[in-house]
Amino acid sequence: MHIAIRHFPDMMSSFDAPDEKGALMCTSTRLRAFLTHAVLMAAVETLRIHGEDGYLQKWQMHPFPTLELEALRHLHLAADDCTLSH
Ligand SMILES: [Zn+2]
Repeated sequence: MHIAIRHFPDMMSSFDAPDEKGALMCTSTRLRAFLTHAVLMAAVETLRIHGEDGYLQKWQMHPFPTLELEALRHLHLAADDCTLSH
C-alpha cells in the first residue's frame, strides 16, 4: 500500500479540497499487513488511553469506532498471517 500524508491549512473547510491543494508531508509504501498492524495497534492504544467516553469528549464529532476496530482486528488476524503481538 502507498500512503501520502498531506497538510491542509484549514481542515474544516478542506474536506472536499483536491489532494493537490494539501502540502505533501511524507509518503510511504508498506505491505498491507504492516500498515494494518500499525493502524490496529494505534487504535487499541488510543482506546486504552482515552476510553470511549474520553475519545468522544476529545473528538466530539464522532464516537470511537469500536465495531470497526473489532472488524479490522478480525480481518487482520484472519488474513494477514501476522506474527507480531496483539
Ligand atoms: Zn498484527
